[in-house]
Amino acid sequence: MQIQIGAPSIRYPTPTIMNKPGDVMNGVQNKKVLVTGTSRGIGRAIAQEFARNGAHVFGTATSESSHSEFEGFCVADFSTRAGIQQCVEFVGEIQPDIVINNAGINSPASFESIDSDRFLEIQQVNVLAPMEICRAAIPFMVANSWGRVVNISSVWSKISKEHRAPYSASKFALDGLTLALAIEYAQHNVLANCVAPGFVDTDMTRGILGDDGIKNLLRNVPIGRLAQPDEIAKFVVWLASENNTYITGQNIAVDGGFTRA
Ligand code: NAP
Repeated sequence: MQIQIGAPSIRYPTPTIMNKPGDVMNGVQNKKVLVTGTSRGIGRAIAQEFARNGAHVFGTATSESSHSEFEGFCVADFSTRAGIQQCVEFVGEIQPDIVINNAGINSPASFESIDSDRFLEIQQVNVLAPMEICRAAIPFMVANSWGRVVNISSVWSKISKEHRAPYSASKFALDGLTLALAIEYAQHNVLANCVAPGFVDTDMTRGILGDDGIKNLLRNVPIGRLAQPDEIAKFVVWLASENNTYITGQNIAVDGGFTRA
């Protein structure tokens, strides 16, 4: 007896554009990409990798710092609702095919010393802003029957440690948000995933851990070194490209083996 699994491909259409053997197309050429938090660190590396591969890249930061590198730029501070709204309006103007929610903040604090306002600020920058940006971008992706969302979570969205409650709460939430979005929009060929970096050589890591902290930490990282931002960026660009046709709803660690050791 033949068993038919699922309905004929109505809900999950096969991709409309495929790379052929020998085709040099890398899968992001001429795509419009919004990357948040492009002034430095991982976001900057992601934006540069998209640009190198022929995408039209639009950036954001809290000041004009890096605007000249991009085709368009939005100055927006996501710790205010007005700042998020500015970015939502920017999304309406550029109508991106790809959204990378990278901007994020962390301020480690013992559980008892958590400041409620700061807790909410971290949730607002790390979860509310990505949610509003996705809500603004998804109608354009649905209209094109193609879209990719990559939200930058963290290893602290999979495991946690002391003094990480506000940050872990935000990154676990970002994973949940991304998963629900992925399920809701898979039928429109909008694929959504998180990438969970381990310890990356950026201002955020150096500011929080310091040299001694980094040295101690690396004992628990099988690869034995920090990641460079472009090691995260290359994977993010692939995941957001036409080359990814079937990965959705995942939270994929790029962490030198840390969360599996
Ligand atoms: P970073 O060097 O501190 O850069 C953060 C970026 O986010 C900057 O472009 C910054 O813009 C922007 N940003 C900060 N506060 C913002 C706000 N209130 N509103 C809008 N934009 C804001 O950070 P990173 O290390 O590259 O981290 C990038 C992402 O990866 C974050 O989501 C972080 O949680 C995640 N992550 C990082 C690591 C790591 O090891 N570094 C590990 C796991 C996950 P300004 O320059 O204007 O402040």
